[in-house]
Amino acid sequence: MYRSRLLAPGPVAVPQAVLEVLARPAVHHRTSAFRETLVRVRERLADLLQVPGDDVLVVGGSGTTAFEAALLAAVPAGSTVVVAHAGKFGERWARMARAFGYTVHEVEAPWGAVLDPDAVAGALRDHPATAALLLTHSETSTGALHDLEAIAGAARAVLPDVLVVVDAVTSAGAVELRPHAWDVDAVVAGSQKGVMLPPGLGYAWLSQRAWARAPQGTRVPSFTLDLHAERPRQRQGDTGATPSVPLVLALEVALDMILAQGMEARWREKALLNEAVLGGAAAVGYAPFAARPSPAVAALLTPDGISAKAVTRAMLARGIRIGGGQDAYAERMIRPSVLGDADAFDALTIVAALEAALVDLGATVAVGEGVAAAQRLLLTA
Ligand SMILES: *Cc1c(COP(=O)(O)O)cnc(C)c1O
Repeated sequence: MYRSRLLAPGPVAVPQAVLEVLARPAVHHRTSAFRETLVRVRERLADLLQVPGDDVLVVGGSGTTAFEAALLAAVPAGSTVVVAHAGKFGERWARMARAFGYTVHEVEAPWGAVLDPDAVAGALRDHPATAALLLTHSETSTGALHDLEAIAGAARAVLPDVLVVVDAVTSAGAVELRPHAWDVDAVVAGSQKGVMLPPGLGYAWLSQRAWARAPQGTRVPSFTLDLHAERPRQRQGDTGATPSVPLVLALEVALDMILAQGMEARWREKALLNEAVLGGAAAVGYAPFAARPSPAVAALLTPDGISAKAVTRAMLARGIRIGGGQDAYAERMIRPSVLGDADAFDALTIVAALEAALVDLGATVAVGEGVAAAQRLLLTA
């Protein structure tokens, strides 16, 4: 019998202290206790996202919902947007922007590569009427971490007023993210990734520039996701519709845990754990895929002749759920992750199980060499 372990890049393992909050008796949201909690949660979300003030809004749904809300709030209907992408999530934002009738231009890089700031700048030069640049910071489908600071800087050098709208779904809480310092205008994340909650909430932050671009009263083509209407309510701890009360209460506990560690310490820890997974897996034949790996996920190509689906099945037979490859990489890529409630021994467990999977599949493998490499990385850090 193996214990179940959730080591995928979302949904992630949830800490016991957070689960205990979710098991408490129901609470009404139109109470001063809940309102005070929501106000505190929003302050802590600002600390998580390294942004000033209380302009982080909580939405029911997921990271995708939060992206939709931020896009509609910040970018006026009918605008032109440039979407820079190099993976599945970036591609989703181009599809979303088209669905809402924006004029969309795309800058692409191959999966696994990082976006070139000069290429993004070139697209903005070609389309000077662009209102917003949409991109993904940590591209979970490829494991690549794009250089958000450099890209935002290059974009602003061409178009000083362009709004930079960022999917930070797997970077928030796991990877250095400083949207305010980097002059970014919108970041969004979701509950089941770097903040260690079950799915069901999204968060969106907009900059002063973004709020000013579409002032309150702007017609947003959504009723429940109108952040302009929601902003004054949430400042008082209220929401337009019933929020997920249990998740908001649990979020406070999860954020307290993360902030007690400190963001920089957490970023360092996630980077080290992910490096240990990548290094350990590489020592037994799995090839790190991303040019610039995101600490949120270890994207690995399986050794020649080994099916990724067979590896994820072999991992599951040992109780461990990791992510598989998407689209063209379904047969070649696996994506274990230490994004959630995971420590050094979870990183070693991933590597040990990846070795075991190769043995199960009849491959020749130097058993223990992956674990040794990962352990050395962890102990010498
Ligand atoms: C998971 C993920 C999303 C989608 O988030 P949902 O919460 O599933 O809507 C978007 N972008 C990235 C980078 C992700 O990892």
